[in-house]
Amino acid sequence: MPKATILYIEDNLANRELVKRVLEVEGYHVVEAEDGPTGLRRAVECRPDLILMDINLPEIDGLTLTARLRQVEALRNVPIVALTANVMKGDRERTLAAGCHGYIRKPVDIDELPLQIARYLSGMREHV
Ligand code: MN
Repeated sequence: MPKATILYIEDNLANRELVKRVLEVEGYHVVEAEDGPTGLRRAVECRPDLILMDINLPEIDGLTLTARLRQVEALRNVPIVALTANVMKGDRERTLAAGCHGYIRKPVDIDELPLQIARYLSGMREHV
């Protein structure tokens, strides 16, 4: 039995493969989606325990997608954690305002990632 199911919405294949490998070693089941529409569909299908959301996605950006996922009743309380290289002033506030529980900076630190995931799964939530 996997510890939890994590949906990772990310358009960059190398990032998807890296994160998937690290999280599978930790015992998580990882479901991937390469764009927003696919992410929305998979989120409804697989009922993830946590969603990792790349912010820079084609078609629908990660913040818009987060807001849409928040409108789905079954997904209302699922932690959504933004993955972003944008660390400009205001980005943190924007991710939280969109409905994310927090964010993880890119490039992902693979030693730190399992701890970050465990914290968000246990209910941690950043506040503006
Ligand atoms: Mn991207």
